[in-house]
Amino acid sequence: MTDLYLDYNGSTPVHPEVVEVVARTLTDTYGNASAKHPAGVAARAAIHEARTTIARAIGAVPEAIWFTSGGTESNNWALRGSLDARPERRHLVVSPIEHWSVRKTAEWLGRNGYEVTFVPVDESGAVKVDAVRDAIRDDTAVVSVMLANNETGVLQPAGEIAAVCRERGVPYHCDAVAAIGKIPVDVEAIGCDLLSLSSHKMYAPKGCGILYVRDGATLPALIHGCGQQDGRRSGTENTTGVLAFAKAFELLARGAFPSSERLSELRDRLADGIAKAFPDAVRNGEGTFLPNTLSVSFPGVRGYELQAALGVRGVDVSAGAASAGASPSHVLLAMGLSADRASSTLRFSLGSGTTEATIDATLDALSACLMRS
Ligand code: PMP
Repeated sequence: MTDLYLDYNGSTPVHPEVVEVVARTLTDTYGNASAKHPAGVAARAAIHEARTTIARAIGAVPEAIWFTSGGTESNNWALRGSLDARPERRHLVVSPIEHWSVRKTAEWLGRNGYEVTFVPVDESGAVKVDAVRDAIRDDTAVVSVMLANNETGVLQPAGEIAAVCRERGVPYHCDAVAAIGKIPVDVEAIGCDLLSLSSHKMYAPKGCGILYVRDGATLPALIHGCGQQDGRRSGTENTTGVLAFAKAFELLARGAFPSSERLSELRDRLADGIAKAFPDAVRNGEGTFLPNTLSVSFPGVRGYELQAALGVRGVDVSAGAASAGASPSHVLLAMGLSADRASSTLRFSLGSGTTEATIDATLDALSACLMRS
């Protein structure tokens, strides 16, 4: 990690106390959690404890927590499982600003006999509750709208969408991958039936995800095999990933990660600095934002070129989502931005290593790059 890392929505450094847990599990808790011998029993007990810690942290019961390989699998499972659970329902409602792991799954389902309604989003970057209400049909199997967008940081009206879904008897899936660790995530407060999380967005290693499944929401397996996790998600449990993720939740509860107040203070310092130095720059999205995220378009500039120029100066930012290439962001296009404006965008996302000095150095580097272009 460079000192000037501003891509915490892409991924986070692993917290030193989580690294200790990782090392310990690799050498001590290596038994297969399905095995009946003492090493297996120990691994199973440790996973049980981790499940309880995580459940408590998000307001769930332990039986509602299922471990996956990451946010992508959790999102795939939420959508496909919901359709599988009620084969008579052939329709799903999804927002176009979802992460590709929801959006591409929905598109794939659309090519494979299901009907998908993408609810429109305007320039504010927030999904409209009325549009969701209008889109729900008697044969809707699931509605999927994220808690906060990973590119713009715009918070979505998840609680209101959950209420509409409950009224219509449709399960509501909420992708909270971008939100976790930055704003409170509580499944009861949201009122969702399904919720996705990913470990590497919260100072734990990559490769562990969670799908929360509210008691009563029957979700058939996506991954088949030896029948681990009560047959709902086969595959040898990732003891290291699970224990590391639980440790990260413990650290979150202890206040080990920067608070929302601290992050928004730093984010505002960056936003103000950009507005002052580059009057043409436009912030993307409106409303309430994740405290650590700032998406800005620099008209006339290619985002990925600016990203590369900043990289040369040791500043890590993202042009859209971390995995995005040179093509304009599907999120910004769905918000009605032109391809030119979408392509001129950088996403800054702040986290544990961000200080005032990081922000000031980033502003200096931006000035240097934009003066040259
Ligand atoms: N949803 C959102 C909102 C994300 O930002 C990401 C990661 N970029 C994912 C899902 C996918 O998570 P993972 O990387 O663990 O597969």
